[in-house]
Amino acid sequence: MTHYLWNPPAIQSLPVRGKTERLPINRLFFVGRNYHAHAVEMGRPVDKSIERPFYFTKAPQTLVNSGATVAYPPETSNYHFEMEMVVAIGKAGFRVKAEEAHELIYGYGAGLDMTRRDLQLAARDKGRPWDLGKDVEQSSVCSEIVPMPGVVIDQGAIALEVNGVTKQSSNVDKLIWNVREIIADLSLFYHLQPGDLIYTGTPEGVGAVVPNDKITGRVEGVCEISLHVGQPECALAS
Ligand code: MN
Repeated sequence: MTHYLWNPPAIQSLPVRGKTERLPINRLFFVGRNYHAHAVEMGRPVDKSIERPFYFTKAPQTLVNSGATVAYPPETSNYHFEMEMVVAIGKAGFRVKAEEAHELIYGYGAGLDMTRRDLQLAARDKGRPWDLGKDVEQSSVCSEIVPMPGVVIDQGAIALEVNGVTKQSSNVDKLIWNVREIIADLSLFYHLQPGDLIYTGTPEGVGAVVPNDKITGRVEGVCEISLHVGQPECALAS
């Protein structure tokens, strides 16, 4: 038995609908600019005929279960919601063909890719990494995972409200790169593993939240999600 200086970090996990076992998380992948209308609102339209998808990752420790209250994060004044469909990988795969990509799918969830937009855009415009904008503590929100082994979801409404007011309303049939294409392409770069989550990108309508906001959202045929934005942590008195 290996002995550590202190207790190792806990394995991150999500509840699974209909099961007592939780789904252990390996990695968190995110697809950038995967809905045309969102790419346009970010000022970076996508031409699929000459571009490939791109990705960023967040540490598994950023994962938060739906229904949580999270502190408004530090060092931002523009904390954005991004509603996304999440694919949970249940089988290893490397250089997977699109027509075989469904074999890797364990199930789906509803996710929020919370983002310090001010820091992300500053980094983007300076050619710097996105980590301070994206790899935010408690920013990878996910619902329970709904088992749908081998099922490819290619349509269904995706929507988000803040305090009951609709902010995002689209359909996953508008994904620029669909679920099969994303799994196939991502598996060219990574040996996909059970417990990898792929956040598939957000539709248009992203915007800022403030403390005390309540976010609700859903992916039709999959799940609902919610998040409370709490007060920022107090600075220490000096
Ligand atoms: Mn996103």
